[in-house]
This record gives sequence, structure tokens and C-alpha cells, in this order.
Amino acid sequence: MNFDLDDESRMLKETVARFVKEELMPLESVVLEREATGGGFGLSAEEQAPLFEKCRELGLWGLDCPVETGGSDLPAIALVGVNEMLGSTVVPFSFPPDSPNLHMLLETANDFQKEKYLDPYARGETISAIVISEPGAGADPAGMNTRAVKDGDDWIINGRKIWITKADEADFNIVMAVTNPEKGSRGGISAFLVDKDTPGFIIARKIPMIGGASTFEVVFDDCRIPANQLLGKEGEGFGPMQGRLVIRRLQMGAWCMGMANRALDMMCEHANQRSTFGSLLADRQSIQWWIADAQIRIHSLKLMLWDAATKQDSGQDVRTEASMIKLHGTELATDVIDNAMQAFGAMGMTKELPLQLMAQSVRTMRIFEGPSEVHRWVIARNKLRTYK
Ligand SMILES: Cc1cc2nc3c(=O)[nH]c(=O)nc-3n(C[C@H](O)[C@H](O)[C@H](O)COP(=O)(O)OP(=O)(O)OC[C@H]3O[C@@H](n4cnc5c(N)ncnc54)[C@H](O)[C@@H]3O)c2cc1C
Repeated sequence: MNFDLDDESRMLKETVARFVKEELMPLESVVLEREATGGGFGLSAEEQAPLFEKCRELGLWGLDCPVETGGSDLPAIALVGVNEMLGSTVVPFSFPPDSPNLHMLLETANDFQKEKYLDPYARGETISAIVISEPGAGADPAGMNTRAVKDGDDWIINGRKIWITKADEADFNIVMAVTNPEKGSRGGISAFLVDKDTPGFIIARKIPMIGGASTFEVVFDDCRIPANQLLGKEGEGFGPMQGRLVIRRLQMGAWCMGMANRALDMMCEHANQRSTFGSLLADRQSIQWWIADAQIRIHSLKLMLWDAATKQDSGQDVRTEASMIKLHGTELATDVIDNAMQAFGAMGMTKELPLQLMAQSVRTMRIFEGPSEVHRWVIARNKLRTYK
């Protein structure tokens, strides 16, 4: 196995590193100040416009979209470096379109849905949300209650969903609902495309989250959609939904690598400058162990990501690898960021450094796309099965 990126992936990573340094990093102090003074976390439309222009100019657009939709159709291995670089700043920006829903649409959309949803989404013209979690079913989405019932040529959806990211700005939502309660996740859950202004699709409330983020509670009250908005086959929504989770989990692993590398860099620079009791922090074993452990764990995450991406590019099932990466990445980034904050002392507790936003952001990442405990359970269960 070749333990290095190929030339194309390396050059792409360097281009993204330059984009982050020259375009995103100058915005970091603005983002930090805005969040610290209660102004929220996101970028304004005025801030985003030149970024979109620049990334189009650099070809950083539709990176994993098929060529026929104007994308570059890059392999998963090339995206590891891209997401690592994007994770190294707290400026909330990613290259359109967001990958997980793209891949779910690619797997399931029919010709009508390709034209109406996939193509504009792949061109970065629309925003989407994924609507799975419910007040009574989060970590275990198979327990969802939102119901879709066929009525003539239409489907009628009723239920309540929660923790939905981007529900306020999404042009369309991919909504998971029960179509056959007896079958549950094995043939009884379907995916639907629901446009933002559909009557009966109600945004009930905005929920402020830590890390400057927001999610939304949404209600489906006799929400009627035409039959051709069923995404994929009836009862077969669960598989493609799990597939999109795999894409996100690999992406999260790479973001965590970027965050952990940034925190490690900051810790090393600081340790080489700050003296206490007549010695540099860099000479203290407690700090050295944080640095050594961080390096070892980041290196193992990199190899895990390259392994999973290579397998995914050759068409293998990487669900277990994605669980391990999501778990390992979020836990190591949590520890490295926390140790960096400790090494900075009081300065590490301020809202002037990006570390606190990174800490909050990675804290939420230990919950969404599957809590850590569920991943541990799934990894152990899969291993134990091989001994039966
Ligand atoms: C910032 C953020 C953004 C989100 N965005 C979206 C979104 O866009 N769309 C969407 O549909 N959802 C979204 N979610 C919801 C997210 O997917 C769920 O919160 C997550 O799946 C956990 O569900 P829950 O909150 O109901 O926790 P629960 O299911 O109640 O679980 C609570 C805790 O119980 C423990 N636990 C659960 N099961 C097990 C087990 N088998 N073994 C051991 N311990 C267990 C874990 O510690 C877990 O954290 C988002 C969440 C957050 C925090």
C-alpha cells in the first residue's frame, strides 16, 4: 500500500490550504468577536459571496459531484485533505454542495428528481436539510414515529422532528418517515423530498446549541406532497440514509484531524515561548506527553482515514471503519483541544482564541451522526458476531 497521497490529491490539499490561509483565516477574528458578543456564528451573505467566487475560480466547487453535473468527481481519498484543511479554522465554510445529501440523491433520485433537486444542488444553487431525528427517537432512528400515508397520487406526512440543521434556510428537505409500521427499518421507512414552502411543513422553533450553532424543531401537519417526491423505493429509505451517514462520518474524521492539528500547533508554539518557575513549558514532561499523545493519535487517525477512503473508492463497505473514525476523531480532537486550552492557562479560557469554539464544536460532534456510545456498541457488536 502506498502511504502517501497521489500528486493530484496533494496538489488539491495545497490549494485548499492556501484558500484557508488567504481567504478564511482573515475572517477568523471577525467570527470570534461576533460569537463572543452574541452575534451568532454564521457568515453573512456579504462575507460568503467573495468566498464562493474565489472557490469557483480555484475549481473548489462540486468536488465530489459527477462530471455530467459540472463537478470533478474526485475520489474519497482526495477529500480527506480537503476536509482536514477546512477543519483547521473555526470559520464555518465548506465547498458547495454538502456531500452527504448529494450522495443520497445520487443513489436514489429518479430522472424527475435529478432535474428538480440533484442538478441544482450539485451546481451549488440550493441548500438541503436532512430530517431524521425526533423527540422520542434520535440515536435509534428506527424508532421514529413520523408517518407518511398514501392518499391517491399524494403522500401525507404527519409527525414532529427535532435538532434539524439548516431547516430555516433549506430549499428542500430529505425527510424520513414510516410508511409501514410493521416493517420498521427493515422495509418500513421511506425518504421524501419536501420543498420549503410546502403547506403543513412548519418550523416550530429555533434551538440555540453550543458552539454557536442552531437547530430547529419542525412539525408535519397533514403535509401533502406528490407521489413523485418519494425518494428511492417505498420502504427502502433506511439504507441510503445510512450511506449518507458514512460519508459524513469520514468527513467528520478529517475535520477533527484539522482541528487537532491546529490545537497541537498552537500548543507547541506556546510551549516554546512560555516560561514558568524558570523553565519553558516545552521542558515539562506533562506538556510533552500531551504533545506526544496528540501526535500519535493524529497519525493513527490519518492512517485510518486513508485506509477507509481507499476502501470506499474501491467500492467496499466501510460502515465499521466510518464508526471507528468518527469515534476516534471526535475523542482525540476533544482531548487535544482541551490540553491546548490547559497549556494556555487563562488565555485558553478566553473567547479571543479559537480553541473554545473548536471545543464546543467538537463536543456537539460526539452526539450528531451517532453518539460515541452507540458507535462503541456497534463496533463491539460487529466484532463479537464474527466469533459466533
Ligand atoms: C449540533 C447537532 C446537529 C444535529 N443535526 C441534525 C440534523 O440535521 N438532522 C437530524 O435528523 N438530526 C440532527 N441532530 C440530532 C442527532 O442526530 C441526535 O441528537 C443523535 O442521534 C442522538 O439522539 P438523541 O439526542 O435523541 O439522544 P438519545 O437517543 O436520547 O441518546 C442519549 C444518549 O444515550 C446514550 N445511548 C443511546 N443509545 C445507546 C446505546 N445503544 N448504547 C449506549 N449508550 C447509548 C448515549 O450516550 C446518547 O448520547 C443533530 C444534533 C446535534 C447535537
